[in-house]
Amino acid sequence: MGGNLTMSAAAPTASLPATQPRRGLVLDRDGTIIVHVPYLSDPAGVVLLPGVREALQAARDAGVDLFVHSNQSGVGRGMFGLDAVDACNRRMLELLDLGEAPFARICIAPEAPKAPAVYRKPEPRFAQELMRDYGYAPQHLAYIGDRGSDLETAARAGIGGIGVATGLDDLPAELAELGLDKTFPVFASLSEAVEHFLKTPL
Ligand SMILES: [Mg+2]
Repeated sequence: MGGNLTMSAAAPTASLPATQPRRGLVLDRDGTIIVHVPYLSDPAGVVLLPGVREALQAARDAGVDLFVHSNQSGVGRGMFGLDAVDACNRRMLELLDLGEAPFARICIAPEAPKAPAVYRKPEPRFAQELMRDYGYAPQHLAYIGDRGSDLETAARAGIGGIGVATGLDDLPAELAELGLDKTFPVFASLSEAVEHFLKTPL
């Protein structure tokens, strides 16, 4: 099973000066935007991580397009349906309160780990589609996530990656195992990760 659940498809931010290159950030959901509750299927369990709303607002203010890419193997394992994932996403959007469709696309990868991967991270397909559809240069698109697989996705797509130590796992250890610890920085919060991305020269 595999698929891409796109909840919204807003047009790219239209208000950028012509001289500024378009930039995008792909955010992991669990452990990056919201507190990681394994196999979360109940919207009542959605809790934003501290400072996330402000960090995403700062990115938007800087004209950065925002996306979400989330592995949800609970669907492929038959634990819950895409409707439950969708309900949790809606609750997340409600809590974020960043207006209509703050994320231009939300990609849900429902595959179980042993099923053939379509969008499941570290497959780079979603990143490749974003580069194709939005015309990002590789240095202007980055993944932010709390797992090795988030940054492995970035590595396989040849784009930027920024780690956040806000999940359940030891991200520096995971990156070391993947040989990516010298490639991608890890920050203590999403605010710092977004700040790092915004400081990168255009
Ligand atoms: Mg995560």
